[in-house]
Order: sequence, then C-alpha cells, then structure tokens
Amino acid sequence: MSYAFCSKDFAAKPYWWNGTPRPQTVGATLPTQTDVLVIGSGYTGLQCALQTAQAGRHTTVIDAEDLGWGCSSRNGGQISGEIKPDFNQLKRRYGSDQALSLIREARKALEWLGEFVEAQQIDCDYQRCGRFVAAHSPRQFKKLIAQAEQQTPGLEQTLNIIGPGDQSSEIDSRYYHGGLIVDSHCSLDPAKYHSALLQKVQDSGAETIDHCAAMHIEANKTGFRVTTSQGVIQTNELVIATNGYSGNLAAWQQRRVIPIGSYMLATEAMPIERAEKLMPHNRVFSDTRKIVVYFRRSPDGRSLIFGGRVSVYESDPIKSLPSLRQEMLRIFPQLEDVKIRNTWMGFVAYTFDGLPHLGKKEGIHYAMGYCGSGICLASYLGHRLGQQLLGQKEGATAFDQQRFQTRPFYTGNPWFLAPSVRYYQMIDRIS
Ligand SMILES: Cc1cc2nc3c(=O)[nH]c(=O)nc-3n(C[C@H](O)[C@H](O)[C@H](O)COP(=O)(O)OP(=O)(O)OC[C@H]3O[C@@H](n4cnc5c(N)ncnc54)[C@H](O)[C@@H]3O)c2cc1C
Repeated sequence: MSYAFCSKDFAAKPYWWNGTPRPQTVGATLPTQTDVLVIGSGYTGLQCALQTAQAGRHTTVIDAEDLGWGCSSRNGGQISGEIKPDFNQLKRRYGSDQALSLIREARKALEWLGEFVEAQQIDCDYQRCGRFVAAHSPRQFKKLIAQAEQQTPGLEQTLNIIGPGDQSSEIDSRYYHGGLIVDSHCSLDPAKYHSALLQKVQDSGAETIDHCAAMHIEANKTGFRVTTSQGVIQTNELVIATNGYSGNLAAWQQRRVIPIGSYMLATEAMPIERAEKLMPHNRVFSDTRKIVVYFRRSPDGRSLIFGGRVSVYESDPIKSLPSLRQEMLRIFPQLEDVKIRNTWMGFVAYTFDGLPHLGKKEGIHYAMGYCGSGICLASYLGHRLGQQLLGQKEGATAFDQQRFQTRPFYTGNPWFLAPSVRYYQMIDRIS
C-alpha cells in the first residue's frame, strides 16, 4: 500500500537500509558452549561483545531478527549525550554530586563516541553538526534563553540563542519562534555505524548469529543454559541487550522498560540547492514540544528525514504516514510537491526515572533504557558493560548506582501510553 504522495520506489523500511543492505550471516550455526552470550545485536550488544571478544573470551551474539534489526539501524542518527532529567531534578533525587556525575558522564559518552568512530575509522558519515532546538511558542523561546543564560556551574556548554528574526539562517520555516544551538551535538548514518561496528565485532572473533531468538533462560552451576530457536547454548556469562524489544524472556527487565513507538519518514532526494535552503547548516533539529518532532537532512544532504509520534496508540507506520507527513508540512509547507521515499517505526525504550540503566540481576548482565539518546549512551554503556564483565575497573560508571524502578501492575505493556500522549499533546498546545 502507498499514497499519491509516495515516490515510485517507496518502501516501508528505514531510509538507512536503502544504502546499507541488511547483514546476512551465511552458514553461522549456534555453538553449544560459549564464555559470553549476548542477546541482542544492536549498539549495546555489539559494543559489549567487542570488549569481551577482544579480550579473548569466546563471545556469541544472537538476534531474533537480522543483525541490528532493532533501533540501531532505524533511528534518526542524531547524537546528543543528554539524559532526560535536568540537573535540578537529579539534585532533588540524588544530591548535587551525583547529579553532576550523571550529566557529565552522559556528555562524556558523546565525546567517547566521536573518539571511537575516529580511532576505529568507522565509516558512518559522522559529523559534529550541532543541534537547533526550535521553540514551538514564544514562552518556550524565553525558557531557552534562560537555559542558555543560567547554566549550572560546572556544566556549562556552548549554547547560542537565535532570535525569531534571525532563524531563517538556520531553518526555512515560519513555524518556530527562535531557538537554541547546542554546539556539541552530532549526526551519523545509524545503519552504516551499525554495519561497521558489526564488522569490527566479527573481526575480533565473536560469532554473530541472526534469526536466533532466545526463548528460555535457566541458571545452573556453570552459568546459564539458554534455549533458542536454533538450539541450546551453555554460557558462563549472559548479557541481555534487548532494550525496547525486551519481551518476556527476562521478565524483570521487561517490567522496567517502557517501549514507545517513534515514527519516521524520509523524502525522495531533492535538488541539493532546494534541500540546502531548508536547513542551510545541516544541523540536527528537535523542538520544545513534549511530543517532540526531530528532523535533519540525509548525509548526502538531499532528503529530509523527519520523525515523531502522531498517533495516540501504536500504529502501522504506513497508516500513520499521512499524519506524519502533515506534521512535516506544518513546518515545511513548501515540501507539498516532494514525494515520500520511506516510512518506518521502532520502539524506543523509556524508563520510569528517565535514566538509562546497566547492572546485574540474578547473575544476568543488562544495559538498556536510553530514552531516545541511545546512539551514544547504548554504545558507551555497552562498552562499559563489556569492561565490567572482564572485571576491569574502567567499567565503573555513575549509572551503576541507580535503582532500576518499575511500577505496580506494569508488566511490559504500557497501558498508560495513550492517556499520557493525549495529556502531553494538550500541554504542548498551551505551553
Ligand atoms: C525511530 C527511532 C528513532 C530514534 N532516533 C534516535 C536518535 O536520533 N538518536 C539517538 O541517540 N537515539 C535514537 N533512537 C534510540 C536508539 O536507536 C536506541 O536507543 C539504540 O539503538 C538502542 O540500541 P540497543 O542495542 O540497546 O537496542 P536495539 O538496537 O533495539 O537492539 C535490540 C535487539 O534485540 C533483539 N532481541 C529482542 N529480543 C530478543 C530475543 N529474545 N532473542 C534474540 N534477540 C532479541 C531485537 O531483535 C533487536 O535487534 C531512536 C529509536 C527509534 C526507534
């Protein structure tokens, strides 16, 4: 199914897969024994596996779908190093020192990823492009000014205010009321990054097995016996890296992550002059709404990649495409004649305290719950988790200390999502 506004080559799959075909593991079979079994082959699982395999541990990574099929090949490619709670919220919960440590470490994750990409020569169109945070109302613009002018001592960063009168230098849209540039934020092609990381993991000797769903975990004297769709494997160490796709395999983790669909579209390629006019500096963009939209140009600069949430309930991305396109046209009405090339969705993993979590529960290691900032946080915490498995002291992080909360009656199905989306839509209209 497609619409008149779709291009002839329209496909309901991530834009990124047009240029990076899905990886195939030809002929790989599940070993019966391994030192480290990683369930989930996104950034978390692969960064963890890279550490353990490079240290000489026999490492096996499995995924229920093709490798990297989850968020790690379908995200927006915007890299922020931000956690959801702000300094004051964190200070109220944990005190000033811990609040500073958490925010500093998330920012360090952003730097760490840039260094990793450079040092490992990862070909993924990584750019330090900066972010434009667009104010959806004059009141929100005032809040952005306050944010730039009253930064928490010790957490200062380069923030530049762009007034409504000057914003045409950043975005060819009248929808917004000025904005804030965050200098440090970056972009990459998520599927290229995943593909290059996968290659590193395979080169380091790890086994990677696709279409191999873990179905049952049983603890025993030497570790865990895991039953998968391709047979049984015994492992000394077990890592759950399933994030927004965590099912009832590990019920404890499932009760602690909230999967929320995020929906995306990509336009067909436009003439470069036309695309450049939309966002001349090629930054990543998000806005001040609670039900946020985020967008950027593709790495070749010619397509608009636009994401957000337009339906109250989860939906087929093809069904919600007309509404998502309408949202794009509210911001860029000049794109009425530009066809849509791709649409897709994926499940972002939120947590009840807005923080990512890593740790060990009943002997099983996990890292998850990046709340939409997973490109650098999943990569960084996956890396740290790998170091922890090896007993290295560098693996310690400020995120280790946090209690991973759930709520009574929450079993993994976010029944409260629809009323929450309606509530936040209302807040966005009046704020
Ligand atoms: C549409 C969208 C846009 C996003 N945009 C951004 C963005 O711009 N910037 C940003 O920083 N973050 C963004 N994110 C979030 C980011 O992509 C994720 O936080 C990150 O990729 C998480 O990586 P991961 O390895 O933990 O999980 P995933 O990449 O989701 O990997 C989990 C894997 O586990 C597998 N799995 C699940 N259960 C089993 C099982 N029983 N057996 C075997 N395998 C299993 C799944 O098949 C999946 O491949 C976005 C997410 C979405 C969906």
